Amino acid sequence: MTATADRAASALERYEAVIGIEIHCQLRTVSKMFCSCSTQYDGAPPNTHTCPTCLGLPGALPVMNKAAVEHVIATGLAIEGQIPARTQWERKNYFYPDLPKGYQISQYAIPLAAHGRLPIETSAGPFVVDITRAHLEEDTAKLAHGEAPSANGYRTTLVDFNRSGAPLMEIVTEPCIRTAEQARRYAEELQLLLRAIGVSDADMERGQMRVEANVSLRPRGTEPFGTRVEVKNMNSFRAVERAIAYEVDRQAAALDAGEPLTMETRGWDDGRQATYHMRSKETSEDYRYFPEPDLPPLRVDQAWIDGIRARVPELPAARRARYAATGITPYDAAVIVADPGMTLAFEAISAAGPDLPAKEVANFVTGPHARLAKAAGLNGRGTAGASDPESIAAILAAIASGRVGRPIGRDLLDRHLADGTPAADLLATVASTISDEGALLAHIDAVIAANPRAAADFRAGKPVVGFFVGQVMRATGGAADASRVTELVRQRLGTEA
Ligand SMILES: [Zn+2]
Repeated sequence: MTATADRAASALERYEAVIGIEIHCQLRTVSKMFCSCSTQYDGAPPNTHTCPTCLGLPGALPVMNKAAVEHVIATGLAIEGQIPARTQWERKNYFYPDLPKGYQISQYAIPLAAHGRLPIETSAGPFVVDITRAHLEEDTAKLAHGEAPSANGYRTTLVDFNRSGAPLMEIVTEPCIRTAEQARRYAEELQLLLRAIGVSDADMERGQMRVEANVSLRPRGTEPFGTRVEVKNMNSFRAVERAIAYEVDRQAAALDAGEPLTMETRGWDDGRQATYHMRSKETSEDYRYFPEPDLPPLRVDQAWIDGIRARVPELPAARRARYAATGITPYDAAVIVADPGMTLAFEAISAAGPDLPAKEVANFVTGPHARLAKAAGLNGRGTAGASDPESIAAILAAIASGRVGRPIGRDLLDRHLADGTPAADLLATVASTISDEGALLAHIDAVIAANPRAAADFRAGKPVVGFFVGQVMRATGGAADASRVTELVRQRLGTEA
């Protein structure tokens, strides 16, 4: 725990934090929200993915993107929200250089999804975040502010319209969150959910998922809300938790000292690990929302909703519960489900080896497989190495049955992951090293000679064959066929008797 987090925790003994989260997500669609420009503008030169509609030129007409609407409905269903039968588009009026129309097409009166919930796990136990609404809108252009003044003394700001008009979903929670950890866990779980249902890549570093928090404090046991501060520019989950903890600490110190807090927007400075004043919010903005005259109301019938519901895949929470029920730890289940690459591998290997102990598969996926994926820089975006699930399952089965010892088995896995050599070929090389019966008998005799008491136990009828087999497997580095060793051990001990 950092010093700030420590102080925030102690502040929470006197004050209750009231936290609401707003998250903007770029939706994964082929084209923009109201025109046919491509959304694949990452890395493209500025202003190359534009048309009269997303440049906001007069007279250009918007045409609704059905896939984006379906993404928000799918999200609404995944958070157990309500989808209205009829909704509408509204103009949110404000002036800013990244919005040449002077208004953003959004939803105000009737969001596409409302009254949802997202259960999360925290270090203090389970918690349910109540979600007020999820609505659809268009993104703005992107401003690039020049560093130095130009020759005429003005600072220049460049506008890139590639992002302008990209479909954006805004998800707003009730002010029901009470700790910085709950806020971070909520954002993490929402990202997992959005990725699982395929509606957004939700990469925070790339600005595809932007988290804002409204934070205020009130003395414990009181109802009225305190002065609210909006926190922006948190570019990672860790930043979300630290920025909120910082705000709780800062606001508690001000309240303790009798200093008034002001309504303001603050940014998070990751370098200084502190929030800073961006602008004051003395008055609430009046966006003069009114219905968008260029778009018809949006009707959502039950058949459409049912069709989308049928396509919503298993959600992360259900998947974690299913994995945990196979006998792996809840921790391993959470680690695997949090990483799409590990999830893919776990599913594929389990399918290829249905009789494999789940723990064996989980250990491989979170161990050698994860290390290789990390080294390859996959960051959860794919499965590692030139591996095929059938080969992995075959090697894991050979380990689980004792046919090859763990050290040899791990070596086989590494060799398979490195160059994709099929399991059959790898296991054949192991089998060929033990086919020399004379060498195997020498190992067995040595083990029996070194363990006279266990040998006596065997002759007294005690079940100690497994002990000898284990010793021989260890002595051969696992390069022996366990069932053949068992046979030979029985023979050897029997002949001596
Ligand atoms: Zn366009």
